[in-house]
Order: sequence, then structure tokens, then C-alpha cells
Amino acid sequence: MRQLRDLLQEAQQNGKALGHFNVSDLVLLKAVFAAARELNVPVVVGLSEGEREFVGTRQIAAFVRNLREEFDFSIFLNADHTHSLAKGIEAAKAGFDSIVFDLSSLPIEENMRQTKQAIEALKAINPSMLVEGEIGDIGTGSEIHDSSPDLSKGLSTPEEARQFVEATGVDILAPAVGNMHGMLRSMVKGETKKRLDIERISSIKKAAGVFLTLHGASGTDDEDLRKAIGAGINIVHINTELRVAWRRGLENGLAKQPDEVVPYKILPSVVNSVRDVVGSRLKLFNGTQLVQKA
Ligand SMILES: [Zn+2]
Repeated sequence: MRQLRDLLQEAQQNGKALGHFNVSDLVLLKAVFAAARELNVPVVVGLSEGEREFVGTRQIAAFVRNLREEFDFSIFLNADHTHSLAKGIEAAKAGFDSIVFDLSSLPIEENMRQTKQAIEALKAINPSMLVEGEIGDIGTGSEIHDSSPDLSKGLSTPEEARQFVEATGVDILAPAVGNMHGMLRSMVKGETKKRLDIERISSIKKAAGVFLTLHGASGTDDEDLRKAIGAGINIVHINTELRVAWRRGLENGLAKQPDEVVPYKILPSVVNSVRDVVGSRLKLFNGTQLVQKA
């Protein structure tokens, strides 16, 4: 089985990005896996600390490992937004392929110091685990927000990116470039879109020279996403769009069969709803022409 690092390298050479989708139950995992298999593209599933707490860190690792082996398919597992080394070590021991070590709320010097320490500890457990560091402010909570936080002061600069990568040795960097966790109500309705600072991405890529992740990409303008990948983004995170699709799929499934109590007769409606969103995003990230939004 090929390593995540190789697939990132290959995607970068081909002007593509890997899709990263958060899962917190079996239905979401089934939907992400089905969409990736349909398109035959590699995929990353991620779980934040809260998502891991719900599903079980070792349990999700066993599930994903099994899918990878049984179907000989490139599906990878990421420990998303991990705020303590203890949680990171737990994920590394469970066999996660990568980790987002997120101390972006700390002053940057402290962020650099602790991230460097974490990398040493994590690579001692699994040398091939990729470690991602975070700088800047992209807000918190992959959910629906009433108003937009002012993130303009938290945008990452190329100089800061260069310093951070040099000081820590991270494999992947997540900058703040106009992206934001969660979606505004108007974005869920499709009335507004997030816009990205493409110039900033290009300069950060040049300065940092490592793989770049775009967090909080739900509700972003499609053309901006294409340009961002062209400018050096290698991994794109989608969570809130999946959660919206999950809820709508569930509501539809229940409404269509008011007397049904069999989960596996109700939940396919959720799988289909989420799979459509994942498929649409994977096509976009992999440069496929069929990019109609689901
Ligand atoms: Zn994120």
C-alpha cells in the first residue's frame, strides 16, 4: 500500500489535491468511502478530538485499516485538530497516518516550541506519520454560524510560514488564507461563498516549501478552490457541508418512511446524501470536468 506522502507528492505534480472529509459515524465513513471508490481517487478521513471521542480512536483506526486492506484502496486516517500531545500519542499508537497538531491559539513562539516537541514524540512512535502544524486564525466549530468572525487580523504571512516550518520541521502547514471553519447561514442556502486569498497562498507556498492544507473549505467558491490547488494547496478539508447533508438525508429518510424503525432501511438516505457532496468535491479537487455542485 502506498504511503500518504507519496500520494500527496503525486497529486501535487498533477495539479490535484486530496480531499479530507470528517467522519463521526459509520454512515459518514461509508459515504466517503463509496464516493472515493466510485471515482477511484485516494481519500483522507479525519476525526477531531470530539469526533474521536464519540467513535473511539482505536475503533475508527481498525475500521479504516480494514477498508484499506480488504479493498486494496488508498484511504488514509488523520487525527484532525489535536490540541494536546497526549491525544496525539493516542492517535499515533492507534495507527493514524497523519495528525493536525493545532496550537494556533497560542502565541507563535510557544506554538513553534511545542509543535517541534510533539513532532519528535510522534515520529518516535511512527516515523512515517505526517505532522501538520497550524498558524493564524480560521475560527472554530464546523457548524452553522449566525455571523462571521473578524479573521482579517489572523491571516498568515509568508514570513511567519517560513519561520514556522524552519523552526518545527512540520511536513504539512495549514495557513489562514481567507478560509474559515463552519459556514454562515447564507452559505448553507448557497447565497454567499467564502473567497480565498490566492496570492497569499502562492507566496506562502514559496516561502514554506511544504505541503499545504486548506481547512474550513465548506461553502467556498469553486473557482477559488481550483485556483488555490493550482497555487499550492495539497489537502482540502470539508466537514460542515457533510454535516448539513447528513442532517438533511436523515430528515428525508425519516419523513419518507414515517413508520419505519429499521436503521439500515432509513440510513441509506443519509449515505446517499453525503456521498453526493463528497463526490462533487472529489471531482473538483481532482480536476474532473463534472463539477456540478450537489
Ligand atoms: Zn480544520
